[in-house]
Amino acid sequence: MKQSQLFSKTRREAPKDEVAKNAQLLIKAGFIHKEMAGVYSFLPLGLRTLNKIIGIIREEMNAIGGQEIQMTALQDKKLWEASGRWDDAVVNNWFKTKLNNGSETGLAFTHEEPLTNLMKDHIRSYKDLPQAIYQFQTKFRNEERAKSGIMRGREFLMKDLYSFNVDEKSHNEFYERAKQAYIKIFDRVGLGNETYVTFASGGSFSKYSHEFQTLTEAGEDTIYVHEGKRIAINKEVLNDEVLKDLGILRRDLKEKKAVETGNIFSLGTKFSDALGLVFKDAEGKSKSVIMGCYGIGLPRLLGTIAEIWSDDKGLVWPESVSPFAIHLIGLFDEAGTVKKAANELYDKLTKKGVEVLYDDRDMRAGEKFSDSDLIGIPKRYVISEKTLADQSVEVKDRRTGKEEMVKMGSL
Ligand code: ATP
Ligand code: MG
Repeated sequence: MKQSQLFSKTRREAPKDEVAKNAQLLIKAGFIHKEMAGVYSFLPLGLRTLNKIIGIIREEMNAIGGQEIQMTALQDKKLWEASGRWDDAVVNNWFKTKLNNGSETGLAFTHEEPLTNLMKDHIRSYKDLPQAIYQFQTKFRNEERAKSGIMRGREFLMKDLYSFNVDEKSHNEFYERAKQAYIKIFDRVGLGNETYVTFASGGSFSKYSHEFQTLTEAGEDTIYVHEGKRIAINKEVLNDEVLKDLGILRRDLKEKKAVETGNIFSLGTKFSDALGLVFKDAEGKSKSVIMGCYGIGLPRLLGTIAEIWSDDKGLVWPESVSPFAIHLIGLFDEAGTVKKAANELYDKLTKKGVEVLYDDRDMRAGEKFSDSDLIGIPKRYVISEKTLADQSVEVKDRRTGKEEMVKMGSL
């Protein structure tokens, strides 16, 4: 993409009411636009990054047998009444609205109820199981606080997968595979070192759920980390019983700030019982399906990457999620020689399938460099009269700041 054609502009200041570093940086770099508190739009650079994250998650979900669907945001009140979650005293962050005929509908904050209902049309016998169904879909949550930028939105995309199994044993096996897939996802997006599988409240169906907590001062959670075992315990459940269950000592734990970037849950038969999702076993007996749910908030993940992978100059994307692989910067001369060479290099790279953002604008070098630092593409190629004299390009690594001259022919 030619930067002269990119409609989004960088800016020096983020909106005054934006207090979160992730949103400040992403707004300044032209990745997102703030619509209102807790509500953000994605611009071309931001959407490219979001789609990279989606691509990684999709690969890992497909690898454990996930099948992708797309459900609706508008929800049937009846289904939520069946599970007892329509009540505002039970779920306090609903967005509800009225249809023209006066009846009510809700904007989904999660999808257990409608998916359980949907699966009733497709699951008859044990032969139809197991299943793992997922989507990338918008959730609406009327969050009380929206001070964490895109890490806590009132409208946000979530990857949510739901598993359906015949018994506890096969559920547990799938749950473990999903956990491993999550570990891979966090590794691949560049958060492997900072992310801990964290024991958290399991609700009423299992003793614990597992949160994926990523260490950052921007996080709203407090966790207790066991560095040796690479696990953590959420403050909410830290007690003698958990320590005993995990075979660890209180003194080996360190208190840290973290953000819940993912959460996997065993649901048991709570939703299948409430909505009547049953199957016939090999003896023809009717049984409730065992379910699990597995969520990752996409903007939260992206915002966490921005918090961790940034410095005083701007964003520093890991290669795997960067909007482009290379930021090509032309420092043009009067004669047009540099522009011609830069255009040619851009064409060659894009023909090879390399994703290049090409700064072809007529601007001062300093402005181009500070924009480039702000946007944070991992590799920068600078082409100028000086580098051309050597038939070279200056290659700079955004993270280490290391620069080297590389001959055009060997790029
Ligand atoms: P929190 O405790 O931070 O409010 P939660 O436990 O309510 O989150 P879940 O219902 O477990 O969230 O949702 C699954 C995942 O969706 C979370 O692990 C997180 O990554 C993401 N998520 C939850 N709420 C938001 C939000 N408001 N904005 C962005 N992502 C979110
Ligand atoms: Mg959670």
